[in-house]
Amino acid sequence: MMRHVKGARCVRCGRTYEAVPNLTSCECGGILDIEYDYAYIRENFTKEKLAERRNYSMWRYRELLPVEDSTPDTPLRVGWSPLYEEKRLAEELGIGCLWVKDDGLNPTASLKDRASAMAVAKASEAGASVIACSSTGNAASSLAGNAAAAGFKTYIFVPSRAPKGKVAQLLTFGATVISVEGSYEDTFELSKEAIDRWGWYNRNAAINPYLSEGKKTVALEIMEQLGWEVPDYIAISVGDGCTIAGLWKGLKDLYAIGFIDRLPRLISAQAEGCCPLNRAIETGEDWRPMEENTLADSIAVGVPRNADKALMAIRESGGLTVNVSDQEIMDAQKLLGRSCGVFGEPAGVTGTAGVKKLCEQGRLPSDAKVVSVVTGNGLKDVANAIRFCGEPITIPGKMDLLLQEFDKRGITP
Ligand SMILES: *Cc1c(COP(=O)(O)O)cnc(C)c1O
Ligand SMILES: [Zn+2]
Repeated sequence: MMRHVKGARCVRCGRTYEAVPNLTSCECGGILDIEYDYAYIRENFTKEKLAERRNYSMWRYRELLPVEDSTPDTPLRVGWSPLYEEKRLAEELGIGCLWVKDDGLNPTASLKDRASAMAVAKASEAGASVIACSSTGNAASSLAGNAAAAGFKTYIFVPSRAPKGKVAQLLTFGATVISVEGSYEDTFELSKEAIDRWGWYNRNAAINPYLSEGKKTVALEIMEQLGWEVPDYIAISVGDGCTIAGLWKGLKDLYAIGFIDRLPRLISAQAEGCCPLNRAIETGEDWRPMEENTLADSIAVGVPRNADKALMAIRESGGLTVNVSDQEIMDAQKLLGRSCGVFGEPAGVTGTAGVKKLCEQGRLPSDAKVVSVVTGNGLKDVANAIRFCGEPITIPGKMDLLLQEFDKRGITP
């Protein structure tokens, strides 16, 4: 019995459910949203109490997480990633303040660890021993890692285009990996059939409503790290839409319990070649499937599974949408690397690419305070980084040759 959780409600038809550990989607096909007893939480949770807490992981926010008191923290240290203030980059972009939240520093190197740790906690409450998911890569590698640490077996379905770094993680963490020759959509459908057939615990973000509750901890951290001073905007990349929905949920939770006194606006960044959710916001029409034409594999989602929650989050926040080209994504990767020392994967830096583009378009006020979340680590996909960032100076180990090369390239040490 989770005293602080009221239940789950369908975001489409409003039907309510008891918050059992293996909740899936509503009978009507809609996604469920976990509802809390905020009055109860307000009585039992204070900023002071939190400030004294030594647990520097996502589990420091247990009062706002849908787990039983008796459920142990998952073993890997997920969350409490650094939030860097980037003064030089803010100046270069022409905005008031910029913070970069580097969620690529999670244990399996993406924000997805927050959802996977939650999946592992709920699977243990459900008494399951096997967890499965389909993923463009990071949901899979984070599930495989977090499950391995907690002693669960995993079956993972990935599209065959998933980058090698992510597949290497899966195999290293001991998952049974099924690489599906087809789109993410094909991968998802096969995983669904297999999960139904064998009754595995389901870590598909579109179906399992607990996962965005794990992801919301990124918002709780950002606000605590900012000393509860609310920024004007938070930018993040969007694929299925579970992450941005989780981000918004965390912010609304904090508002509901009085930890913050206003809400920031969201910036939803998608790739030009695959932006069904942003297109829906921009046209005011229902979302329509799109091709998956971007090298940012983690957000190449033509059929977004969390569309309802994501669109609601962007609209409710008075959010901005921005679509960036692959070139703009890779430029942002370099920019973050050069000016911040942060190496993000293409989808990881898409939020920052979006911020840069909004600045260039004059769509952000010059005093705007902006947080940009880097959602995944660049080491996941070195092939694209190498393709875009140029070659090193390659010479035999001789000083005169080094001098020659420096001279030729105008490098003056
Ligand atoms: C999954 C992912 C996203 C997008 O999250 P969605 O819930 O699919 O919208 C963004 N960046 C990275 C690195 C991811 O792995
Ligand atoms: Zn419903």
